[in-house]
Amino acid sequence: MTNKFDSSRYEKLKASGDLPSPRGVALAIIRLTQQEEVSMAELARVIRSDPAFVGRLIKAANGIVAMTRRPVVSVQEALMVLGLPAVRTMALGFSLLSNYRRGACHGFDYDAFWSASLAAALAVQVFAQRNRAGAPDELFSLGLLSDVGSLALATLYPAEYAQILAEARRYPERRLADLEHRAFAMTHTDLAAAMLADWGVPKVLIEPVKLYETPERSGATAGTRDFMLLNTLVAGRLLAELCHAPEADRPALLSRLIETAGKVDMSADEVVSAGDHIVSLWRDWVAALELPAGNPPVFADLIEAGERDGRDAAYPAQVSDEADEAVEPVPEDDAGDSPVRVLVVEDDPVIRALLREVLEESACEVHEAADGRSGLEMALEVQPHILLSDWAMPQMDGMELIRALRATRIGRNAYILLLTDLEEDERLIEAFETGVDDFVGKPVKPRVLAARLRAGLRVVRLQQELERDREEIRRFAAELAVSNRRLQEAALTDTLTGFPNRRYAIDRIQQEWLASTRSGRPLSCMIIDIDNFKRINDTYGHDAGDSVLRAAADALRSALRGQDVICRTGGDEFLVICPETELTAALSCGERLRGAVDALKVAAGDVELQVSISVGVAVRDTSMADLDALMKRADEGAYLAKQRGRNRIEAMQQER
Ligand code: GH3
Ligand code: MG
Repeated sequence: MTNKFDSSRYEKLKASGDLPSPRGVALAIIRLTQQEEVSMAELARVIRSDPAFVGRLIKAANGIVAMTRRPVVSVQEALMVLGLPAVRTMALGFSLLSNYRRGACHGFDYDAFWSASLAAALAVQVFAQRNRAGAPDELFSLGLLSDVGSLALATLYPAEYAQILAEARRYPERRLADLEHRAFAMTHTDLAAAMLADWGVPKVLIEPVKLYETPERSGATAGTRDFMLLNTLVAGRLLAELCHAPEADRPALLSRLIETAGKVDMSADEVVSAGDHIVSLWRDWVAALELPAGNPPVFADLIEAGERDGRDAAYPAQVSDEADEAVEPVPEDDAGDSPVRVLVVEDDPVIRALLREVLEESACEVHEAADGRSGLEMALEVQPHILLSDWAMPQMDGMELIRALRATRIGRNAYILLLTDLEEDERLIEAFETGVDDFVGKPVKPRVLAARLRAGLRVVRLQQELERDREEIRRFAAELAVSNRRLQEAALTDTLTGFPNRRYAIDRIQQEWLASTRSGRPLSCMIIDIDNFKRINDTYGHDAGDSVLRAAADALRSALRGQDVICRTGGDEFLVICPETELTAALSCGERLRGAVDALKVAAGDVELQVSISVGVAVRDTSMADLDALMKRADEGAYLAKQRGRNRIEAMQQER
C-alpha cells in the first residue's frame, strides 16, 4: 500500500499548536542559529541559561572527540566542535526529550521511546564516524529525531493511537504504518519528515527518515550519499531495536544489522566493536537522563552464541571466526598513499588552469570553484586536505571563506594557502590571524607554488600519520574493552550450568528493584530449590548429582520467558527475577518451570532419576521496605513448599 501524505492536513495540525515542538531556551537557540550573523558568544550565553542543555551538549561534543583530544569542558568549545547546524538540531532533540517525557497516550511507553531514540542517535553517530556517511554530530540528531512522528501521533491522538499500538502488537502481520494511515491519513514517518522539514532540517537528512522502515522503496544507488545516509540510519535503528529486543529475536535482528552495515562499508567485526562502544555510551546517557536501560546485548557474545548454536546460516558470511581478535585493516584513505585532495577557489579561469597543472604534477586530486560561496559548499562536500584560495573574489572573498571554514570541524584541519598580490604587512597579519597557514604571491610562479605546496603536503602527511596512530589506539582500546568484558563475564558466570552466578544475581535484582521503584511497575522473583538433592548425591555419586543439576538447568532455561533472568545462587538453588510481573503471572511462570523439571528423566547408570523442584514466589508490595523483604518472602514460600511435600509452588501473599 502506498500512502500519500496530505500536507494541508499537516498545516492544520501545526496551526492547532498540539504538535510536539521545542520550547524555551531551545527555541531561542534555534532562532539564533537561523540568523546569518550569530556570534558564538551570544549563542553560548543563551545556552548557558539552560544547565541541562549545557550538560548534554558537552556530553555530545565529547562523544565526537572521544580519544582524539582532551575532553571538551566549556560551552564555547562544544560549539566549536559541533558547529552551528548540529547545535541547532541537538537543541531541538533535547528540548523535545525534556518536555515530552510523559503524556496522555497509555499504550505509548515514553521512556522506552526516548531510550531507543538515544540508542539510535548514538549508533548512527558512531557508525558515521567509521563510514563517513555524514557529519557524525548531525547524524546524532537525525537518530534522536528519526521516530519523532510516533511521539507526535501519541501526543495528537492519545486514545486512538493507544488502540492502534495495541492492535499492531496483537497482530504483528498488520503493518503499523497501514494502521496509522487508515486512522489518521498519515504515518509516523510522513509526520516525522514534515516536522523535520518545518524545523529547517536539511532535505538530505529528511529522506532517510521517510524511508528507513522501507529502505527497499528508495531509489538511491549504492555508494551515493543518500544511500549511505539511509542505510546508516537503518543500521542505527536496528541496533536500537536490538538493545530492547527479547533474546529470542536477537539473532535475526543481528543478522539484518550486519547485512545492512555491509551495505555502508562496515564489516561484521566493525559492527561488533562499534556495537559494544555504542552500548557503553548509551548506558551513560540513559543513566544521566534516568531512562530505562533495556537489556542490551554484548555484541561479541551474540555472534559467538549464534555460531555455538549452529545458527551460522543466520549470519552473513562476512562474520569472522575471530570477531574479537581481528584487527581492522587501515582504511585506504589513511594508508598514506591516497591522493591529497586540494580545493582551488579562484575566479580567474587562466590562473585556475595554471594551478591545476602544478597540482596535478604533484599527484593531487584537484577540485575547483570560481567564487567563495561555491568554494565553501564544495569544501564541505569534498573535505579538502589543502585549500588554495584567492583573496579578492566576487560573492564571498577569500578571507570570508576561510573564516567560515575555520569555524567548522571539517575546515579546521585543512592546510590553507592564500593567493595574493597584496604584500602589505598589516593585511598579511590579518590573513594569518584569520586562519591562513601560508601565502603565495601573485603573479603565481609555478616553482614557488610547487615549493610551498611541498611544505603543505608535509603537514598533511604528518596529520594523517597522527590520525593513523589515534586510530590504532582507538582499536587497541576497543580490543581491550572486549577482553575486559570477557573476564568480567567469566567472573559472573557459573560454569556448571552456564547461568549467571550469585554475584550477578545480587547486582541484577538490585537494579531491577531500583527500576521498579522509579517506574512504579511490579517486580516478582522466585527461589527454586531442587528436592532431596543430597540423597541423589549420596546414592548415585557427585557426578550423577552434577548431571541432574545440568539437566534441571536446561529444563528451566527452556521453560523461562524471554524477559526473566535466572541465576544459580547456590548448590541446588536458583533465583528467577521477573521484571514487570504481577504475582498471578509469576505463579503461572513458576508452575511452568516446576512442570518442566518434573517431566525430566535423568539417566544415572541403569536407573532413571526423577527430579523435582520446590518454588517460592513473591511480588513486591507496599509492606516491603527493601529488597531483602522481597527475597525473604520468596524464601518463606520455598520453605512452605518443602513443608507441604515438595514438587510444589507456594507464595506467602494473596493473588489480587
Ligand atoms: P531439600 O529438598 O530440603 O532441598 O533437600 P536437599 O537434599 O536438596 O537439601 P539441600 O538443598 O540443603 O542440599 C543441597 C546439596 O547440594 C548439598 C550439597 O552437597 C549439594 N551440592 C551443592 N553444590 C553441588 C554441586 O555443584 N554438585 C553436586 N553434585 N552437588 C552439590
Ligand atoms: Mg535442595
